Amino acid sequence: MNQEERAAEKEELRRRFASLARHGSKFEKALETVMSGGVKESHFSPSGRALYSVVGTLGEEFIDPSKPYCSCSNFYFRVTSGKEETCYHLLGFQIASRTGKIDITEFDDEEFGQLIKAFFGDVFGVVSRS
Ligand SMILES: [Zn+2]
Repeated sequence: MNQEERAAEKEELRRRFASLARHGSKFEKALETVMSGGVKESHFSPSGRALYSVVGTLGEEFIDPSKPYCSCSNFYFRVTSGKEETCYHLLGFQIASRTGKIDITEFDDEEFGQLIKAFFGDVFGVVSRS
């Protein structure tokens, strides 16, 4: 995709999700994240279990859109305290899930434990560095 097409696609997303524009810079970051394929699903078979994560500026964050929950510090400090409504990772997920832009990787159920371990190692690494 060239730069023009990219700009056009972003503009289209911006129009389509205009109702999220009130989130300001978070909305812009969410768009960037979606455009770069940062919203990921690890899908496990045969259980059908899914883990979601979003690659942001500080690394990969684990999200649970059904709660909603995000492992980023912004969510922990500002969203759970009610100062802010959401973080850009969860916004990114909202956009990606409604536009089919989630990057899905298939795994076998047997790999679940290993993946969780690797995953949380990464998340805690990020938390201790920030
Ligand atoms: Zn977040």
